[in-house]
Amino acid sequence: MINTFSIIPLIYFLLFSSIDWGRMGHHVIGEIADKHLTPKAQKEINGLLDGLSLASVSNYADEIKSNPKYKAFQPWHYINLPINVPYGSSKRNPKGDVVMAIKKCTIKVKDPDEPKSVRAFYLKLLLHFIGDLHQPMHVGRQEDRGGNDIRLLWLGRASNLHRLWDSHLIDHYHKSSAEWVKELSDLQPEIMEEIQQQPLEQWVLESQDLAKIIYKNTPPNSSLGDDYHLRYLSLVKMQLQKGGLRLAAHLNKIFK
Ligand SMILES: [Zn+2]
Repeated sequence: MINTFSIIPLIYFLLFSSIDWGRMGHHVIGEIADKHLTPKAQKEINGLLDGLSLASVSNYADEIKSNPKYKAFQPWHYINLPINVPYGSSKRNPKGDVVMAIKKCTIKVKDPDEPKSVRAFYLKLLLHFIGDLHQPMHVGRQEDRGGNDIRLLWLGRASNLHRLWDSHLIDHYHKSSAEWVKELSDLQPEIMEEIQQQPLEQWVLESQDLAKIIYKNTPPNSSLGDDYHLRYLSLVKMQLQKGGLRLAAHLNKIFK
């Protein structure tokens, strides 16, 4: 029987499930990072988040989006750039972008003079934004709002390029987050280390390069399904893996 209590989570799911590097993507990144924290970082994070895992708060920044109180944080989830202009020489949005957000949140989390509630708030934002930056369409073009205005069909239903990369490609794999994480856990230690050592500028560059390829290979009004999924699944996996490993490395450094 449908009652209010069962409808609320459903509405919530419909509203938020495909807004961002979908809920599952952020959860997987959080879970991977949880597994790679140093004991010191883990202890500090436990203190700030009252024992909650990174995965469990990984969608917080999306959940507060509809609250007018947090309107100022909306541009912090992405950066829109002309496709051939590198971040370093691009004109910045005065309201902020995901790169600036990662830097700003890092400073807040590190600051021992900030109250615990403030540091916890920015930690939750930080881990989400590092995830967002690894979704290539969060480093898309301004004129189509990171692919949001590029209409296409996914499995015969109307969607758009941004949502395709946020959610459809992840959800179509039909795996639980534990299954995702298990599948992404077999990386060689040297490769893992290399991924973790790469700086923020490299994360931006990689996503921008991927966005270029995706734009080129996904024209407006494409009708997409299994073939496209097969073609890009390994890329999606790689971005989730990198996001999780780099998030852990970033937090380990903050709490060293
Ligand atoms: Zn987001």
